[in-house]
Amino acid sequence: MHQMVPFLDLAKMNGQVQDDIDLAIRRVAASGRYIGGAEVVDFEREWASASGAKFCVGVGNGLDAIHLALLALGVGAGDEVIVPSNTFIATWLAVTRCGATIVPVEPDPATYNIDSARIEDAITAKTKVIIPVHLYGQPADMTAISAIAKKHGLSVMDDCAQSHLSRWEGKPVGSLAKASAWSFYPGKNLGALGDGGAVTTDDPDLADRLRMLGNYGSKAKYSHELLGYNSRLDSIQAAVLSAKLQHLQRMNSERSAIARAYIEGLSDVDVVLPVTARDAEPVWHLFVVRHPSRSEFQERLAKVGVETLIHYPVPPHLQPAYAHLGFKRGDFPVSERIHSEVLSLPLWPGMSSDQVGVVVDAVRSLA
Ligand SMILES: *Cc1c(COP(=O)(O)O)cnc(C)c1O
Repeated sequence: MHQMVPFLDLAKMNGQVQDDIDLAIRRVAASGRYIGGAEVVDFEREWASASGAKFCVGVGNGLDAIHLALLALGVGAGDEVIVPSNTFIATWLAVTRCGATIVPVEPDPATYNIDSARIEDAITAKTKVIIPVHLYGQPADMTAISAIAKKHGLSVMDDCAQSHLSRWEGKPVGSLAKASAWSFYPGKNLGALGDGGAVTTDDPDLADRLRMLGNYGSKAKYSHELLGYNSRLDSIQAAVLSAKLQHLQRMNSERSAIARAYIEGLSDVDVVLPVTARDAEPVWHLFVVRHPSRSEFQERLAKVGVETLIHYPVPPHLQPAYAHLGFKRGDFPVSERIHSEVLSLPLWPGMSSDQVGVVVDAVRSLA
């Protein structure tokens, strides 16, 4: 019988730090304070510090983080926002939720991140914000993107949902844009035991607006200055995140060690391996390979017990939800090709070296 290798074993991953998680949950349960309070304030301070920003505002999830950050930047109907054509749909949904217009830009076919050389062609008089996504834990080219934004008077707001503690030119993502949006969905590198998100920024006014937007548009109780939302980071999730943050560096190192084992073990195999930009220190949220007959390859791996996932099978512009925008197949061929060929191999902290070996052997013999 083959050894099964699940794509991700969240229970086992969190089991590495079970005692710390249990303590955090019991502390909040006993405190009587379940929304806001010291747990949220403490985590916000810790996450701002870890990601190199002055302020952190906890919110309900990653989609809200992107959405509220755009609102706080003043994005609304009539504005254009530049987004990668190759991303998880949340990046796009946050833009359309503001009533703004999506302007997709193709990725670099090597790194899968937004191609900075194509951004300027997409800028018009209506452009307001550029949203790079540090996809799969690989930082986008923030040097080039920041220079373009500066030249055209635009804001950069990066989607950091897959890139906790990754670095670009030695600096943590989260310290390189006007605002940075985070998700703490359980499967992310820093994951809660439920939904969670945050926005980091160095701008005190922006942080202030964000805090109001997520809390009924209110700063002082029962005084409502903005048409706000209810999107808050739960105290219990903040406590869990603080506990897990103590282990994040080590967990990211475990991810890197597995990625290294894959890169070394698969360098002479017929799959396209991930490419890391010269100035990037990735955090390997996902280890994504490409194969021309992806479905058959995935089935062969499944037959020997290696579970893989696809991030993502259909690009946002071809999703039924965006049919009204009128995009068609062929509009973003680089992204479409990536979506048709990518396959994510199992990679999570707590994965055994035996399991890594099983994956390497399986890919070697079945690619
Ligand atoms: C997970 C993710 C989000 C959304 O986060 P949620 O917490 O699930 O709302 C946004 N963008 C990217 C790139 C993501 O991977």
